Amino acid sequence: MVTPIRSAAVAALAAAALCTGCTPPPEPGPAAADTTSRTTPVAARTPDPPAPVVLLDPGHNGGNAAARTAITRQVPDGRGGTKPCNTTGTSTSDGYPEHAFTWDLAQRVRTRLEAAGVRVVMTRTDDDGVGPCVDERGAAARRASAVAAVSLHADGSSPSARGFHVAYADPPVHGTGPESLRLATTLRDALRSDGIPPADYIGRDGLDGRDDLAGLNTSAVPTALVEAGNMRNPAEAAAMSSPQGRDRYAAAVSAGVLAHLER
Ligand code: ZN
Repeated sequence: MVTPIRSAAVAALAAAALCTGCTPPPEPGPAAADTTSRTTPVAARTPDPPAPVVLLDPGHNGGNAAARTAITRQVPDGRGGTKPCNTTGTSTSDGYPEHAFTWDLAQRVRTRLEAAGVRVVMTRTDDDGVGPCVDERGAAARRASAVAAVSLHADGSSPSARGFHVAYADPPVHGTGPESLRLATTLRDALRSDGIPPADYIGRDGLDGRDDLAGLNTSAVPTALVEAGNMRNPAEAAAMSSPQGRDRYAAAVSAGVLAHLER
């Protein structure tokens, strides 16, 4: 459904780029204007379609650890229960925190999506604040009129475990179940085709249906959550801790988002 929107937006960008340096068309002279102004209908210029909006949700936040009362507050979990507002997230064994990884990754994904004509909205504006709570993160996508939402995380498991997985709400809460699964599958395919291995310790083939993630449960647009890898695995920790490694994750995630928008 969003194919024409994005394609047109990208085509418009491409056309603008191609015409850089083109000779501008000549201005019509007074005589030409006189003979056509009253008798020839002027074709209305088709307005550019609006850019599709994608919500990026970098997991956790740098101020969470020092705001225990705020982040342990119970909020709706999207299935009739409650959950803590937010958590601090995990870290590598060297202390590189998940919130810093997700924040940096989100900037890299954002740059790539915006270059492709997508408008990106974020759930947080920096990496030293508190929250927002998971239910607010879930609600942010509809508020932004986003066509898709992607939460970015990294896991903290046994050092021998490795690989990414993409979570989606299962069973679905809103009417977005099939589209959320399609988004998750497309992201999975993009990560895997970039050579990033699917998790060998959770989910199946890089996908994991979850009923306990409030950010997924409370989102009313197609939404998926990427756990890029296991921060406790030495090789994956090294990749996540390096700009080159984060760029690789960003390339795969943004390719997955764009592939989702194109279909
Ligand atoms: Zn996380």
